[in-house]
Amino acid sequence: MEDIWQSVDKIISEKRILLKQKIDVDKPTIIICAGLHGNEPLGVIALKRVISKLINQEIKINGNILAFVGNPSALKKKKRFIDIDLNRIWFDKERKDLHEFSQLDEIKNLIENFDKDIKVDNKFFIDLHTTSSKSIPFIVVSKNKASIDYSKKFPFPVVVNLDQFIDGTLISFLELKGYKGLAFEGGFHEDKSVLQHHEYFIWKALIDSKIIEADLSYINSSLTISRREILFAKDDLFEIKYRHNVTSQSSFKMMPGYENFQQISKSQALAVENGNEIISPFDGRIFLPLYQQNGSDGFFIIQSINY
Ligand SMILES: [Zn+2]
Repeated sequence: MEDIWQSVDKIISEKRILLKQKIDVDKPTIIICAGLHGNEPLGVIALKRVISKLINQEIKINGNILAFVGNPSALKKKKRFIDIDLNRIWFDKERKDLHEFSQLDEIKNLIENFDKDIKVDNKFFIDLHTTSSKSIPFIVVSKNKASIDYSKKFPFPVVVNLDQFIDGTLISFLELKGYKGLAFEGGFHEDKSVLQHHEYFIWKALIDSKIIEADLSYINSSLTISRREILFAKDDLFEIKYRHNVTSQSSFKMMPGYENFQQISKSQALAVENGNEIISPFDGRIFLPLYQQNGSDGFFIIQSINY
């Protein structure tokens, strides 16, 4: 991990805006955020790489782009957040004197200024993240039909209802402003293939939304997505059916070795909590198993659905 952070240190600054180009309020529009969580630098590096290529190769931008870093100070400190999770507070009524509330205000101003006279319906938002345990790349969207349709353009599994369990995300805020939004989890924080996943995703988003006119294979001849990921992802849409809540008093420990999206069957032992074995209530796939120190989401169980 250290070498990733060394390269991050070279390019990460306190600067928020990576690219802001508004050429025509009648043209397609995209907002891209990376580093909303400060311990997830690879999305920021990928976004910077794509922007450098856009500029250096003078690729014609035929729409409006806003690309920014969510929490630059947290990124500098290599921490998920300074005081509070910036991706949980977008609808908080009470303002608190915490670092992330000042970040929220800055981002809100930035977005509102950028968005205020945009006239088109073709408005997209992508939010780049990475995961704390090993995972194939995946997409998270709300049950907003337009966002689900948008997510199907990308060759990755899609989980549709995390917003029912997690409040106050930046995506929900932008959906209210008419954006088709999704979060892309490119894989494990420390896995370098994540950079390729993110770059691929950004290019595909720019091309599909007609912000740039280019051939993905030309731009991305060096970007490969593993065959396993593509095969797995084929038409896969999942819904969360179950969440195991962890209270601060309980001693919760996942059984070792579960990978995100791993298939599980009914009655399979998943974790141990206060000396009791926790078994799966039904068949499905495990989603976001908790292997970090803290968190109230022990694990989720997802099942595939048609939409
Ligand atoms: Zn994140």
